[in-house]
Amino acid sequence: MRKIKSLLYRTAARGEAFLKGVAFDCRACGQCVLSQTGLICPMSCPKGLRNGPCGGTLGDRCEVYPDRACVWMRIYERTAKDSTEVPPLNPSPDAALFFTSSYANWWKGIDEGGTTPLPYPDLPKNRVYQPIATRSRLEAALKSGRFVKTCEVRSPRSADFGRLHKEISYVKEQFDAVNATAYLNGKPSLPSGRTCIELLSAGVDPICQSTCRDHTKTSFVSELINNHANGVHNVLCLTGDSYAGNPRIKQVFDMDSSLMVFEARHLRDTGTIHFTGQTMPEPPKPFIGVAINPFTRPIHAPIRRLKQKIAAGADFAQTQLIFNLPAFEQFMIRFCDEGLDRELFVLAGIPVVISKPAMEMIPHIPGVDYPDEIRKRLEGAANLREEGIKLAREMVGAVSKMQGVRGVHLMLFGADHSVLPEVVRDIDAPGSAERT
Ligand code: SF4
Repeated sequence: MRKIKSLLYRTAARGEAFLKGVAFDCRACGQCVLSQTGLICPMSCPKGLRNGPCGGTLGDRCEVYPDRACVWMRIYERTAKDSTEVPPLNPSPDAALFFTSSYANWWKGIDEGGTTPLPYPDLPKNRVYQPIATRSRLEAALKSGRFVKTCEVRSPRSADFGRLHKEISYVKEQFDAVNATAYLNGKPSLPSGRTCIELLSAGVDPICQSTCRDHTKTSFVSELINNHANGVHNVLCLTGDSYAGNPRIKQVFDMDSSLMVFEARHLRDTGTIHFTGQTMPEPPKPFIGVAINPFTRPIHAPIRRLKQKIAAGADFAQTQLIFNLPAFEQFMIRFCDEGLDRELFVLAGIPVVISKPAMEMIPHIPGVDYPDEIRKRLEGAANLREEGIKLAREMVGAVSKMQGVRGVHLMLFGADHSVLPEVVRDIDAPGSAERT
């Protein structure tokens, strides 16, 4: 009898996968959310994101298949039009139900863990004005009202720390916090958390970058615990760019970046790991960052996605690279109109382009809006280093006048970090008085 039942379930699963595959591009996750997503399967997103677009979306195009519209742009269009309501937060699917029948799972009532939206945490209003809640120096700087400066160093791809220490020596005085990038394009490197320890020992407040491309929920929460043990109090929750071109790189996407924020915030506020229910005596209390692409269009799409991340518990956002100032300003106006400047600190992503080979990579970076006028200016520069610094300084000046921008995050296109302090020369040093 058991064998017959099992055969019936398997037959139902295969029949469902075939029919829904033809009709909806179904990926047989076994816990169907088509009724919430306007009959567009979110698992057909190449990253399998169940909660919204990633930062690689430019306009309404998919990062992985730029000839197609982003699956989430289509879902938003069908379910929400131009609404900026906070979208529901779908849990990550239960891997044990993959390749089973979603109808049978619904009938048995075992799909709820993968289909019922999670309740958002009950957070206070006007969060940027709330008292300091973590041991992050970045949080203290932002809440002081000072215009902050962050930049990034790259985790070494070996145990040779020579280059890293040189980079840190250039940025350790002038910046409020420094991101430790890692696993760029899915390539192995020292973990971000390990590079953060080097930053800490140089007196810098480090920001650990975590990507759901490379993490399961278990490894992500473990990284938070490890960071806490080492005195690293900032985490930036990222999707991670797709490296679908290399089939040897396994992309995880056990959760999306909104769910990472939710897990981190739940742990910080309750001392309990949400997905296991395990309580710990001294939980990590990270200051939680996210990324946002202001150049995803229509404009309500990045606003909705950001609202979701804010509702899940994000404290600050670093933006995609800004080359198109008018489009960024349009985004910030909408951001403030929605009252989000009272809930989230935004650090504007400023490119510092000083090397020709690095400049030539820009058009190939997912999600970057690179207007012709800026491209021609950089390509035609007699001295790219000088022009790149000049452009970056202009950008810093322009964004610092925009309402809702609380600081800048410099991203270097080149190998010489000694130029970064020059870009922010006129901005107050960390620890100085509040700007008037
Ligand atoms: S949500 Fe899951 S079951 Fe529903 S169509 Fe997509 S992959 Fe198939």
